[in-house]
Amino acid sequence: MELGSGKVAVVTGAGSGIGLALANGFASAGCSVVLADVQDDALAAAADEVGAHGVETLALKVDVSKREEVEGLAATTVDRFGGVHVLCNNAGVVGAGDPWLGPIEGWEWVMGVNFWGVVHGIRAFLPHLVMSGGGHIVNTASMAGLYPGLAGPYDASKHAVVAVSENLYNSMQAAQMPVGVSCLCPGWVKTGIVDSDRNWPAELGELPPRDIAQEIQIGHVRRAIDEGMQPSAVASLVLDAVRDDRYWVIPHGDWLEIALERWHRVAERQ
Ligand code: ADP
Repeated sequence: MELGSGKVAVVTGAGSGIGLALANGFASAGCSVVLADVQDDALAAAADEVGAHGVETLALKVDVSKREEVEGLAATTVDRFGGVHVLCNNAGVVGAGDPWLGPIEGWEWVMGVNFWGVVHGIRAFLPHLVMSGGGHIVNTASMAGLYPGLAGPYDASKHAVVAVSENLYNSMQAAQMPVGVSCLCPGWVKTGIVDSDRNWPAELGELPPRDIAQEIQIGHVRRAIDEGMQPSAVASLVLDAVRDDRYWVIPHGDWLEIALERWHRVAERQ
């Protein structure tokens, strides 16, 4: 689809990292941008930055794990702009604590944001995208959605996002609905999510901090931080995918070969 003025893009998790880069990308393409994030302060700063492109912006505090809040985001967007064309289900958390010995809330939190957030987003926005004449949904998964290795709940949630994206893509094709679908599977990208647990809900209490030094050996974090892509580079790949109606967006990364192998398997099936 063509991007530009008159088009409205919604980005969840727009307060930082890839989400902020996506919001800036759609704004620099001339779209109006709705920024949603659970963090107030990051959201306000992000809205200022994105507004500097000279487009209309709307910043809304939303917890994507809460269905009513995501439905409110969709309703407010359509009230304000009269329609919506792009939805980036991008909000995400890594989680903390041991998946098997730690509290079950760790799973519920990660699945709530990463998986349910995407499902709520699709269900709330799909009718509006269709009624706006067609659109595109971008779901931020991860390389960890194609190949497990980082952490239990995170990997599981991102595998689920890949599955949801494939299902949505097939459903849209089968029903000849005018909604494109992309699944973004970044490797290591220079954002806060790889080295911070700042999103861990306070009510879950103190947990042992994640041992980044250990992760350097297990998950290649140092390599990632040294060699990882900048969020803006990832965002420009996503914008191209929306323009060209492409499904997979897989920035180069350690697991590219595995991703490509899976990609071919999926392509053969279709
Ligand atoms: P990355 O861009 O690599 O995914 P970041 O941590 O920089 O990593 O970005 C994730 C964004 O998602 C943050 O701005 C964070 O505040 C936001 N986020 C986390 N949880 C939620 C939630 N429940 N609802 C909305 N946004 C969320």
